[in-house]
This record gives sequence, C-alpha cells and structure tokens, in this order.
Amino acid sequence: MKIVKNPEEMTRVASDLRAGGCGLALVPTMGALHQGHLSLVGLALEGGRRTVVSVFVNPTQFGPGEDFARYPRDLEKDAALLEKEGADVLFAPDAQGIYPEGFSTRISLPSFENVLCGPFRPGHFGGVATVCCVLFGIVRPDVAVFGRKDAQQLAVIRRMVADLRLGIGIVAAPIVREPDGLAMSSRNAYLTPDQRKEAPAIFRGISAAAALARLGAPSAVELRAAFEDEIGPGGILSIQYADLVDPSTMVPMDRLDRDGLFAVAVHAGKTRLIDNAVLRPGVGAVEV
Ligand code: AMP
Repeated sequence: MKIVKNPEEMTRVASDLRAGGCGLALVPTMGALHQGHLSLVGLALEGGRRTVVSVFVNPTQFGPGEDFARYPRDLEKDAALLEKEGADVLFAPDAQGIYPEGFSTRISLPSFENVLCGPFRPGHFGGVATVCCVLFGIVRPDVAVFGRKDAQQLAVIRRMVADLRLGIGIVAAPIVREPDGLAMSSRNAYLTPDQRKEAPAIFRGISAAAALARLGAPSAVELRAAFEDEIGPGGILSIQYADLVDPSTMVPMDRLDRDGLFAVAVHAGKTRLIDNAVLRPGVGAVEV
C-alpha cells in the first residue's frame, strides 16, 4: 500500500490506478479507524476496484469548543489496518494541502443544515460537503463509500453529487455495531467505563422505536417517547434530539406513513453519540 501526503501526487497516483480499468473508489475518513471504517473499505474493493482511503481530520467541520484538538489520531495504526484490508493508497494530506492559501470556496446545503445535527453543529455539514468536494476533485473516483452511521452526511453528499453533477456513484454501507449494539465510532474511545456501560441504551431505544414501526404507522412523538423510555431521565445519557425525517431530503415527518429516518443524538458527558435506523411502517427497521 502506498502512503501519499501530497495532493498533486495523489491526483497522479489516482489517474494511474483508474487507467487499470477496474474502477476507482474513495473512502473518506478522519482516521482512528475501526471495524466500521474497514467495512467501507471492503465494499470499496468489491469487484476488484482500486481503493484510496483518505485520513484527514478536517478542521472546517468542527465548531468552536468541539473536539478537533483532542480527536484521536494514529496514522501508523491506521496504515497497518488499511494495508491488511487491501487498500491501494492511504491519502493523508495536511490542512495546508487541502486548504492552500487563497482557498475561498464553501459549499452549503441550507435545507439539510437546519435539521437533526445541523442546528447543534453550525457549519458542520458545509465543512463536510466542501472537504468531500475537494477530495473528489483530487482523487476523481468512480465511486465513494460512506457509512449509514452518519445518515445526514450521506444525504448531504448524495444531494451535492447530484446537484453538481459530479458523476460519482455513492455507495452506502450498513452500520457496524459492537456486540452489545453500540454503533462503532472513533469517539467511543472518549467514554468512561460507566458511560460505556450505559451507551447500549441508545441502540435499545432505536430498537424500541423499530418495534413500534413494526406494529403500524407511529407518530414522530410516539417514536421519540419509545426511545426516551429506554434512555430514562436524569441518568448518564441525555438526549439532544430524537427525530423522524425523510431519508433523502431530511424534511421532518409527523408520522411514519412511509419510510422514515429515525435519527438520534445523545450526550454521555461531553461525548456526543449519534445513531439511526430507517423505519418502514408495518415492517420495522430496513435499509434503503
Ligand atoms: P469518520 O472517520 O467518523 O468521519 O467516518 C468515516 C466514514 O466511516 C463515514 O462515512 C462514516 O459514516 C463511516 N462510519 C463510521 N462509523 C461507522 C460504523 N459504525 N458503521 C459504518 N460506517 C461507519
């Protein structure tokens, strides 16, 4: 596996890989890789595609007071994991490489930025969309792989790629969970033992909402109540939001009268954890 830090070199290497004719995939990450990320790499490599994995802790998607400085970084370990997984290239640029002097572009998707995580993380999705657009420009992949764990990010990227006619196929990967149901996340490393013990209640809450969906067409209020019952009041976990939205447009839904994304954000102390499921009335949790 090649490790590339320079964006111009990355463009040259990507062009050589593309010339092989098997297709080129990009998996954008912020590193501190876990099994969830590696499942994306597995999907990227399917059908013999050559695969670039980017590791870049993108400063423009962190708000003031968020965890940019303490975000876990371990490039050596990431490289070893990616090598084993069969990735072709680890692209690890620095901030100067991605945002050279004079960089002035900012992508925004206002209607996607005022729901779910948006109001709590002003500027986050603009930062994500912008950095992904830059990475797409550097690598020019045929497909890019994103996890359903970050469902709002996935919807933002899909919309941007369609709007800007970037011609990149977006592959969505299922959420990879710990055996007790907690969605894998680089931020799980922040949890204290007590918080880690409580955290699976998030998945139990989502499963309770899915059980309601199986029975019919619950309202958003009923889904939230089912989730809240599992988290309980005044404990280690506190709910930031638990909302039902359209899976593609992120427009809020009052009732699960068609497929809906039930998405939650929960605080365990300072650590913010997100999770979600796509629910179908009369069926329960599905992936779309
Ligand atoms: P991050 O490094 O957290 O920015 O994540 C990079 C990519 O990995 C994103 O597309 C995430 O949605 C995806 N990802 C992170 N955690 C998981 C998980 N537990 N299951 C599936 N995909 C994940």
